[in-house]
Amino acid sequence: MNLICPECKNKVDLTRFPNLAPADVIECDHCGITLGIENISGEEVTAEIVDEGK
Ligand SMILES: [Zn+2]
Repeated sequence: MNLICPECKNKVDLTRFPNLAPADVIECDHCGITLGIENISGEEVTAEIVDEGK
C-alpha cells in the first residue's frame, strides 16, 4: 500500500501497519505528524492530518 504524507510529501512506510484500516491513526516516519486514515482503495491510501489541538 502507498501513502504520501500530506504534510511532507514523503512516502510513509506502511509495513509497520499490516492491518491498516480507515479511521486508524498513524504517525509519519518522516515528519512525525499524526495522520488519520481516510480511505484505502487497492494500493492507494489517503490520509488527513490530525489536529492534536496544539
Ligand atoms: Zn510526513
